Amino acid sequence: MLVTESLPTAAGTGGGIDAPLRARLAATIRLRTESFGSIAYVPERDHFYALDREYGSALQRLATGEARPVRPAHREMVTAMAEAGICETEPPTPQRAFYGRSLLGAFPGGIPSIKAPMVVNCFTTAQCPLRCTYCHADDLMKSYREDENSDWIDEVIRVAAATPAMVGVVTGGEPLASPGNAKRLLTALARDKAVVLDTSGVGDFGSLVPALRHNNAHVRFSLDSAHPSINDRLRPINRRQVPLGTSSFRKAIEGVRLAVSEGVACSVQTVVTARNSDSASLTELRDMLLEAGVRTWALHIVVPAGKAAQRPKGLLIGDDGVATLTRLVADTASQRLPIDIRVTSTHRQPNSTLLISAKGELAIQRRDGAGKKILRVGRVMARRRLLRQFRRHVDTAGHASRYLNGTLDLYPKYVTAGLPAITVAV
Ligand code: SF4
Repeated sequence: MLVTESLPTAAGTGGGIDAPLRARLAATIRLRTESFGSIAYVPERDHFYALDREYGSALQRLATGEARPVRPAHREMVTAMAEAGICETEPPTPQRAFYGRSLLGAFPGGIPSIKAPMVVNCFTTAQCPLRCTYCHADDLMKSYREDENSDWIDEVIRVAAATPAMVGVVTGGEPLASPGNAKRLLTALARDKAVVLDTSGVGDFGSLVPALRHNNAHVRFSLDSAHPSINDRLRPINRRQVPLGTSSFRKAIEGVRLAVSEGVACSVQTVVTARNSDSASLTELRDMLLEAGVRTWALHIVVPAGKAAQRPKGLLIGDDGVATLTRLVADTASQRLPIDIRVTSTHRQPNSTLLISAKGELAIQRRDGAGKKILRVGRVMARRRLLRQFRRHVDTAGHASRYLNGTLDLYPKYVTAGLPAITVAV
């Protein structure tokens, strides 16, 4: 039985069923028209939604700024989109947690196909103060470190600007290992994309807070366990880069606390390996995140790429992990806990993500997991070439599934639990 059957439908708005409803687009929303309708990205929640044409046309009647009257025929759709954070209503509709596939409307074929990237991950630097046991990007760091120079970030920015993605991720390597590059990249990406900062928290996270607030960026901290010893064994420090005694667990928690207190939208991502995949450990971590005020949790099944491909023993879990995570989501939904959960199963399609290396090359994991394809992006017709490479080398169905929560099949509608409000720095 699908758990959906036992869940209530979305709650109504505060105004009652007959009160007139007005609505506006959420101030920071990103929208892109697609052949099936549109894709919306909600930066505060780091959450994509695919909307069918009906939802898309209800949304098209809204604008940012002044709220407009909602037609009775659109009322239910607009309410659902307000619960998802895509628009805001008068009277207000609270945002609610979303646990399943991120589809609003009718998608009889499941996750829809896309022709352009949703997300591009951009290396800030090849340096990192950690040596995570499963590091996906290990092969894009070690051999780049010695030659890294200050011109590289210009090339990363150029290639990112040519990439028609909705979201640009400032990643690495650890962005905090090169805060100057991180600020430049963040500002450059924000010109035409929503921005996410991926960080371990090891470094001076506080120095990036003003830039994050200014650009309405979302920050995603990496944390693998509620237990410092387990986390720090999976994510040990590089003693050549940070003082002995530095704990990746402690730095991530400090970062989460600072982001929450500063009103910077933040989430946590966890790489699920054989060492942290038991239900009790994941439940403990979820409860710790809830207590810390985290509203979004992304769980990634470890991908046999980078370091995890070289030393897979004791790390890889495959589809057993999907079953455990599906149960975790079902448990979270049945308790109506206020946290969005996204599960990725990129181990099934390793070539689902788009990376730009620290040198500004396109880097795409090979289908069989054996290393990354490295491609230069020339200056002439860069966007067209890049799109061609994306369609040729990236598993576009896997890409859409990764960001639209396609691993899960539960709760195809939406929402159950009210999310705590956050202050967005607009
Ligand atoms: S923090 Fe990220 S880039 Fe650094 S070692 Fe860990 S997984 Fe790799």
